[in-house]
Amino acid sequence: MASTDTTHLAALAGAPPSLRTATADREAVATDRSGHRPATLPDGVVRATSVADVVDTLRWASAHRVPVVPRGAGSGLAAGASAHAGEVVLDLSGMDRILELRPADQVAVTEPGVLTADLDAAAHEHGLFYAPDPASAAYCSIGGNIATNAGGLRCAKYGVTRESVLGLDLVLADGRRVRTGRQTVKGVAGYDLTSLVVGSEGTLAVVVGATVRLRPRPDVTATLAAHFGDVGAAAAAASAITAARLQPSVLELLDEATLVAVDAARGTTLRAAGSAMLIAQCDGRGARADIEALGEVVGRFAAHWRSTTDPVEADELLAARRAGLPALERTGDVFIEDVAVPRSQLAAAVEGIAAISARTGVRIATIAHAGDGNLHPIVVVPRGESVTEGPAWEAAGAVFTLALRLGGTLTGEHGVGLLKRAWLRDELGDDSLALQRSIKAAFDPLGILNPGKAI
Ligand SMILES: Cc1cc2nc3c(=O)[nH]c(=O)nc-3n(C[C@H](O)[C@H](O)[C@H](O)COP(=O)(O)OP(=O)(O)OC[C@H]3O[C@@H](n4cnc5c(N)ncnc54)[C@H](O)[C@@H]3O)c2cc1C
Repeated sequence: MASTDTTHLAALAGAPPSLRTATADREAVATDRSGHRPATLPDGVVRATSVADVVDTLRWASAHRVPVVPRGAGSGLAAGASAHAGEVVLDLSGMDRILELRPADQVAVTEPGVLTADLDAAAHEHGLFYAPDPASAAYCSIGGNIATNAGGLRCAKYGVTRESVLGLDLVLADGRRVRTGRQTVKGVAGYDLTSLVVGSEGTLAVVVGATVRLRPRPDVTATLAAHFGDVGAAAAAASAITAARLQPSVLELLDEATLVAVDAARGTTLRAAGSAMLIAQCDGRGARADIEALGEVVGRFAAHWRSTTDPVEADELLAARRAGLPALERTGDVFIEDVAVPRSQLAAAVEGIAAISARTGVRIATIAHAGDGNLHPIVVVPRGESVTEGPAWEAAGAVFTLALRLGGTLTGEHGVGLLKRAWLRDELGDDSLALQRSIKAAFDPLGILNPGKAI
C-alpha cells in the first residue's frame, strides 16, 4: 500500500487530539481479514476512547467533508473497514467497557469495542449467555457484530445479532447523538431504527453503545459428530434435520478440503472418518433426547455418527469447526464467500459449488452454518495470486449467481462491504436499491460515513 501525503489534515481546523497520521498507525488500520489490499493508505486514524471523541471527530469530519471509516476489531471479511487515501479511520476498539450487566432484566449495556467472547464470559458469571457467537468471537467486537449483523454457530436456534439487540446509542454523521430502540424485550414505538442500523456496515451512523439481550444459560448440552461419504450427503442430512422440525442450537458442515486443512493445522484425524462432517449441538433439558432424534435422521445419510454430553469433547469438536477458516488460510490466499440459500437447497448449493470449482479449476473449500443455509465457500489460490481478479474472481461470481438462482442471498452474515457491491443490484433490484440510497442520504446527507460500502 502506497503511503500518502497527510499534511492537509493538520491544516483542517479543530482536528481531534487523538488523530494519528504516522505511517505505522495508518498501516495498522488499512484493511480487514477479507484479503482486500487497498492501493493506498488512509490519511489518518482517530483512536476513540469516549463518546465525546466520536462526536468531536464527526463534527470535524462533517465541517471539512472528510470521509470516515468506522472500525471495530478489523476481523471483517467483506472489506467493510478497508480505507484508502482521502479517508480517516475511526477506531472504536478502545471503547471497550461493559457498562451494565443486569441479570434481573437479562440485558447488558456495552460499549462497541468490547470483544464478543468477553461479553459472553461476563454473562456466564450470572448464569446467562450472549447468543451470537461468530467463529471469530475471541477477536471481533460487538460494534462490528452490530454493523455486520453477525451470525455464528448458535444462530441456528437463537438468531443473528439483530435478534439480540434491543437498543443503540448512535452518533450521526453530523455529530448528533441519537438513542434508538429500548431497554425492554418488546416495543413498537416509531420506526425500528435499531434494526435498520444493525447490518448497515458503518454507513448510517457510528455505534457508540448497545443494549443487548442475554439469555439463560442451558443446563445441558449434547453434541453430535457425523461423518459422510461425500458433502452432498452431509448437506442432504442437514436439510432433513430442518424438515424433521428438529431445532439444534448448532449445525455446522465441513467439507473434505476443510477437514484436510484442519487435520494439518491441529493434528486431528477427521478426514480419515469420512470426506464430510456435520457437527450438531442441542441444548436445554431435552438435549439428550433431541440429539438422539437428530442422530436417527442423520443416520439415514451418514457413514457413522456419535453423540456426547462430555463438555470437553464438545469443545474440541467446536474448536475444530472454528479452526476451519484459519486452517485454510495456512494453505494459500483466500476469499471467503458468505452466500445463504433456503435450507432445503443446501445440497443443490454444495453440488453447484463443486461444479463451479471443477469448471473453473479454482480450489473452493466449503464450511457452512448448515442450520441457517449459510455457506462459506472459500476460494483458495496459491500464495501471492489475486483472489479478486482472474479465474478466482470468476468462480466467486459464479457462486453468487448460483445462490441467487437458488432463491438465496449474496451474504448471510459478513455484509456486502466493498467486495460484493457489483452483485447487489442483481439481488435487490433498481427500486429497492434507490430506496436504500435515499435512506442513506437521510442519515448522512454529505455522504461521509464509510462511502462506497454496503449499498
Ligand atoms: C476466522 C474468522 C471467522 C469468522 N467467523 C464469522 C462468523 O462465524 N460469523 C460472522 O458473522 N462473521 C464471522 N467473521 C467475520 C467478522 O469477524 C465479523 O464480520 C465481525 O462482525 C466483524 O467485527 P469487527 O469488530 O472485527 O468489525 P470490523 O471488521 O472492524 O468492521 C466491520 C464493519 O463494521 C463497521 N463497524 C465496526 N464497528 C462499528 C461501529 N462501532 N459503528 C459503526 N460501524 C462499525 C465497519 O465500518 C465495517 O463496515 C469471521 C472472521 C474471521 C477472520
